[in-house]
Amino acid sequence: MAKFGMPSESFHGTCRDLTFEGKGVVVDGKRTVFVNGVFPGESGEFEIAYRRNGSFYGRVKRLDVVSPDRIAPKCKICSSCGGCQFQQYAYKAQLEYKTKKVKEQFRKIAHMDVDVLPTIGMDDPYHYRNKIQMPFGKDARGNIYCGFYKENTHIIVPVTECYIEDKRAAKILQTVKKLMKSFRIEPYDEDARSGVLRHLLIRTSHYAPEIMVVLVTNVNSFPSRNNFVHELVKECPEITTVVQNINTRQTNVILGERERVLYGPGKIRDSLNGVEFNISAKSFYQTNPVMTEMLYDKAMNAAKLEKTDVVFDAYSGIGTIGLIAARHVKRVISVEIVEAAVKDAVRNAKNNNIKNFNVYCDDASSFMVRMAEKKEHVDVLFMDPPRKGSDERFLNALLKLKPSRVVYVSCDPSTLARDVAYISQSYKIESIQPMDMFPQSFHVETVVSLCLRKK
Ligand code: SAH
Repeated sequence: MAKFGMPSESFHGTCRDLTFEGKGVVVDGKRTVFVNGVFPGESGEFEIAYRRNGSFYGRVKRLDVVSPDRIAPKCKICSSCGGCQFQQYAYKAQLEYKTKKVKEQFRKIAHMDVDVLPTIGMDDPYHYRNKIQMPFGKDARGNIYCGFYKENTHIIVPVTECYIEDKRAAKILQTVKKLMKSFRIEPYDEDARSGVLRHLLIRTSHYAPEIMVVLVTNVNSFPSRNNFVHELVKECPEITTVVQNINTRQTNVILGERERVLYGPGKIRDSLNGVEFNISAKSFYQTNPVMTEMLYDKAMNAAKLEKTDVVFDAYSGIGTIGLIAARHVKRVISVEIVEAAVKDAVRNAKNNNIKNFNVYCDDASSFMVRMAEKKEHVDVLFMDPPRKGSDERFLNALLKLKPSRVVYVSCDPSTLARDVAYISQSYKIESIQPMDMFPQSFHVETVVSLCLRKK
């Protein structure tokens, strides 16, 4: 990251558009500069902050023309914290941006001109997140703080109140900070690779009064661990389980492999679309429970499930999509790579007395290739891969298996467009529905319904 000239260079410019990462595209004569917190139609004085990979990044100095979509943010630190790009952007405009972004990614990446339904948003787009993870630091006076990393850095912006998190997290964070000080538990120092607590992860249940706290530590054991947990649960009786996760690696990945349950069952329960789920620390679980139920409703409707259907749920996490579908179909096969999530899925099937469900711990592509080799019959494929999308092995096997319907749930419209383009000779798009799982951010979730073309 090269610093640009000192003192920083100012210029006058106008914001023409927003990038897929929600940055304002500000044009100053010949140059394009990407700026956070500025919206289309706004103009004023900007300065260059830094240059990376040949692109210029800047910040707002003064705005002369302000967008009618600009609103006062609830959060005072939204410009410095990397979490919310859009707190100053009216919610309706956020939703319109997301619809346009999905359409644009299909145009740019898939070279397809597609119809995209309007993005479905939340009635109350705040305090929706059920998963909170924060690193810790210590100031010169020895006070402990926690927060989020400033964009593209490892500098922690201290946060005391976050407007997108479950409200119950704030008290727990406060208590942990206080107890760390009194028990002399040091925050992890990335440079020195010393200290104890790397991250705190809080997971809240939407329907059950259950909360999980995960202490991600740099060490196996630390003095007064039991007393610390005892005090924490005493002061926050809403916590129903505490897990220690040990991560001694020099990495940006938050969770390590090993874990130890320090209090309670090591899991929390929640329910989605009438099915109960156990969630353990390492399993993926959607972070916006209100919108997740709507997302799965949309996915089920898109699949047009029938009683005789064989359903395949790939990248299944703790089994959510497959288990919700199971009651409406003959049989469900799921595949997921994380062992802890597969164990959760097995338990979830049992607890809900769902017997027509089988889950396998494997790489989705390898599993899919074997299914295609064995010429298995599948009517409906749900696929919900991580951000990087699926791969050619998976998609080639899909083209051999030929399920009559495919429902692709995606958290990244660019890899979604790439993968849909790959199968578009055999599959026709029926609908593209973006859903706002992540209000105040540039992220968007999309459900695409596809059907096999009749030859
Ligand atoms: N469908 C689930 C999970 C979606 S997140 C839900 O809605 O909750 C994507 C999931 O894909 C994660 O659980 C991740 O562990 C899993 N995954 C990532 N790479 C994979 C691979 N190569 N094969 C199978 N699963 C994979």
